Amino acid sequence: MPKILELDQHVADLIAAGEVVQRPASVVKELTENAVDSGASIITVEISSGGMAYIRVTDNGCGIANDDVKTAFLRHATSKLRDARGLEAIGTLGFRGEALAAIAAVSRVELLTREQGADEGVSLFLEAGKVIRMSPAGCPEGTTIIVRDLFYNTPARLKFVKTDRAEGSAVSSIVLKSALSRPDISFRYIKDNKSEYHTPGDSRIDSCIYSLLGREIEAGFIKVNSSDHNVSVKGYVSSPETARGNRSYQFFFVNERPVFSLMLQSALEQAFKNILPPGRFPSCVLYISLKPNEVDVNVHPAKTEVKFISDKQVFDAVYYAALSASDKKIISDNYSTPVENNIKSENVISITPSVQTELISEPRVSYKSDNLFKTINPVINIDSAKHLPAQPPAPQVSPIAQVSQNPAGSFRFIGEALNMYIIIEHENSIWYIDKHAAHERIHFDALNNKNYESMSESLITPVVCRFGHEDVSVLLENSDLLENLGFSVESFGEDAVAVRNIPAEIDIGDTEPVLSDICMQLKYGGTFKSSLLDKIYKIIACKAAIKAGRASGRAELEALAESVMSGDISHCPHGRPVAFEVTKTTLDKGFGRI
Ligand code: ADP
Ligand code: MG
Repeated sequence: MPKILELDQHVADLIAAGEVVQRPASVVKELTENAVDSGASIITVEISSGGMAYIRVTDNGCGIANDDVKTAFLRHATSKLRDARGLEAIGTLGFRGEALAAIAAVSRVELLTREQGADEGVSLFLEAGKVIRMSPAGCPEGTTIIVRDLFYNTPARLKFVKTDRAEGSAVSSIVLKSALSRPDISFRYIKDNKSEYHTPGDSRIDSCIYSLLGREIEAGFIKVNSSDHNVSVKGYVSSPETARGNRSYQFFFVNERPVFSLMLQSALEQAFKNILPPGRFPSCVLYISLKPNEVDVNVHPAKTEVKFISDKQVFDAVYYAALSASDKKIISDNYSTPVENNIKSENVISITPSVQTELISEPRVSYKSDNLFKTINPVINIDSAKHLPAQPPAPQVSPIAQVSQNPAGSFRFIGEALNMYIIIEHENSIWYIDKHAAHERIHFDALNNKNYESMSESLITPVVCRFGHEDVSVLLENSDLLENLGFSVESFGEDAVAVRNIPAEIDIGDTEPVLSDICMQLKYGGTFKSSLLDKIYKIIACKAAIKAGRASGRAELEALAESVMSGDISHCPHGRPVAFEVTKTTLDKGFGRI
């Protein structure tokens, strides 16, 4: 081993910069957060060429004192945190003191700032983190930071940068979330000389949503406002009628910080569970507030995840807030549109208090003591499981005996029960087969087969899916992968895609939900291609499979039974068993014959 030496400051800064500054959107996020922390009431963000050539963030906040400007660009220099105790109660968006140093290390930065009340301001130029020039400047109170030629001195980083279009969309998405997070601040966003957003900053959530998401979305929203002594939830959720085919309009803010959280997503969706059909998702703009020490934001700077001290408390708060809103709207609709009463009244029934309690009760794990069954199986009631995970919960059932290598065809088809379970007789047993799980497995295996060639079906009229800037660019960047799966996806304006082909296995109506789920995986499914593909195949297989609860033809059911009984498959891709055996002996015992 060579001798151990401390890294030179510049190299250390470059390494740190790699963590904080991955793309123009991360620069915009950091600079905008600083502007918010400065107490500004007006913030302007401007970019050109996706932010690679030029980013400017201007605020009218507190400004930086002349003596402090150089310090602000040192690593771990911050005015927001003094000691470890402060970490517990952090109220600002930044606190690490890393951003300015990291940004400056990989670009050319110009800072213009004047402290509130100061006679004059100061301008500072840095290149690759080195101060080139500093001079007094006449400028308005507040701060402007301009970042030019991002990654000009780190060619390796440049390789990871995507097209200007994709980078620009990611920036737009960041600005959108920042602007939504603070209706009390007027945000203006200019992209390639064109004004994209402008919020009034009048502290009204509705006017903020209107300026950012448009009239249509705003009009479909229902107000939510609930609080107990620990958590408050306010904002808007969509009415059931305006639910969408994807989740791109679900925005959550925790203590004014935009966050991504499967738990929050799940709380919202559980509230709509009995109201919306599968594949339709509520939208929302929800502001959750709780004491700073109830939430841990001390995670990786580039991430937007949060940890709550009590997930349950926050889940319940969001769940009930959303539930009360959906409840309100349906009932008021019943008064105003009596024609729809029949359909709607069903929905009202579905959220009666007893059902509510059921929905939020702890996952019920009951143990079947029914001695009709050979194995004693814990049955988890997934419907009432809380904190609905992205993946179904790990199977709690002890694996049912896998079908042994039996020659196909040596069984007798009895029928189907509950539009869900195929029943067959085989040798000395009765077998129950979960038709959806079995079919899902067959599709999944087919997709995994190296020789699999997707059958793509071209649509006479393309399906237009509105996903929002960021998701559109994620999908377009992965168009090759989507093509291999049988989708052809083209851009359709800034925030939508037109889908011309879909895999033959899926229904046209599933196009948007499937692409939306794939997009989630592309964004958050990790970097290992094989595990990512695995998750994507599961999504397609699940949608391609015949649905439990829907009628199927006998031939289809028999073919499925044959695949299962030939021993080809035993578990669905999520690990649930596809077949379940009740032996004659068990039946005989149950009836007291033996
Ligand atoms: P952090 O935000 O974690 O403190 P940064 O590197 O982002 O670290 O910023 C360093 C310091 O520079 C901040 O703590 C703040 O004092 C000052 N600063 C940065 N941007 C602004 C701004 N727009 N207005 C006022 N002060 C700022
Ligand atoms: Mg900061």
